[in-house]
Amino acid sequence: METKRFEANDLKAAATLLRQGELIAFPTETVYGLGADALLPASVKQVFAVKGRPSDNPLIVHVANFEMVKDYVDKFHPLTEKIIKNFWPGPLTLIFPIKKNSLDPIVTGGLSTAAFRMPDNKITLKLIELTGDPLVGPSANTSGKPSPTLAKHVAHDFNGKIAGIVDDGATKIGVESTVLDLSGEVPTILRPGAVTQNDLQTVLGVPVELDRHLVKESETPKAPGMKYKHYSPDTPVLMVKPADWSRAIAWAQQENKKFALLAGPTIIEKYQTQAAAIYKYQNDSIEAATHGLFDGLRELDEKKAVAVILAQTFPADELGAAYMNRLKKAAAQNYFTSNT
Ligand code: AMP
Ligand code: MG
Repeated sequence: METKRFEANDLKAAATLLRQGELIAFPTETVYGLGADALLPASVKQVFAVKGRPSDNPLIVHVANFEMVKDYVDKFHPLTEKIIKNFWPGPLTLIFPIKKNSLDPIVTGGLSTAAFRMPDNKITLKLIELTGDPLVGPSANTSGKPSPTLAKHVAHDFNGKIAGIVDDGATKIGVESTVLDLSGEVPTILRPGAVTQNDLQTVLGVPVELDRHLVKESETPKAPGMKYKHYSPDTPVLMVKPADWSRAIAWAQQENKKFALLAGPTIIEKYQTQAAAIYKYQNDSIEAATHGLFDGLRELDEKKAVAVILAQTFPADELGAAYMNRLKKAAAQNYFTSNT
């Protein structure tokens, strides 16, 4: 199959393919999504097959506006309106209990709830409108690999396997949306993203909880998909805390391990002469690190000579909670320590 490239001016053709049951990858402000018409179970099944995604891992239903959600949900949490008004379109996915049989179990993983999001990307909102149905859109990567933040990442994983890719350049944020469970009384964050616990509490004026497994990584997560290994390159990744960089470099050299650096300019400039490869975040901020994380993991993983990727850590608060959540998965929780 030829994978066509679509741009903002030929969305009609992409929407027609979606209606015909084909898969089209679309841009969002978080990462690229692998789109299929959410009301065509056979196409949604194809999404799982192409990604190699376990079938009990539910999908996010992407809508063009809040009205679309009402076709599937009639019991809304009392804070819903306030949340929508402040955070949609945006990187916040909301879980609601759904009307019985309103979505195929292939979409929901057989749950009585479903996840909805209105992405902050004009092209994709237009694409959903033209399709006329909501689109499922898990990250457009092979299951277990870093999520795609550029159309070329999608092409790398799916060229020849999907009907098309809508290219809108680099995604702004770089990690997947915050997932907020609104199916119970207390709003609970199941996955950290660019909308933070603090953002939500400030706007809502009520406590917002973090799911237990986010606080204690060893707990079994509530969200089905979260038990799976994620975002991992083939090359081992070691997280390096700010105070440990010179010891980490000395260790790699002593062990004769060719290493790559994944970090901001300050760290890169200090140690790059010793490194076999580098990926430099655009600046030293957590925003730049989050934006570059998945691209960096993909790029460094292609360098065959590299035995280990040393990656910069950040304090795990605010956006740092999302960055560290993804980095820890990529690193299988491994930090550099003096006895590494
Ligand atoms: P993604 O893997 O980016 O497509 O995001 C989908 C994730 O949203 C899943 O892995 C789940 O963690 C979460 N999710 C989707 N639907 C539900 C649901 N009904 N209940 C809880 N979590 C959900
Ligand atoms: Mg994903």
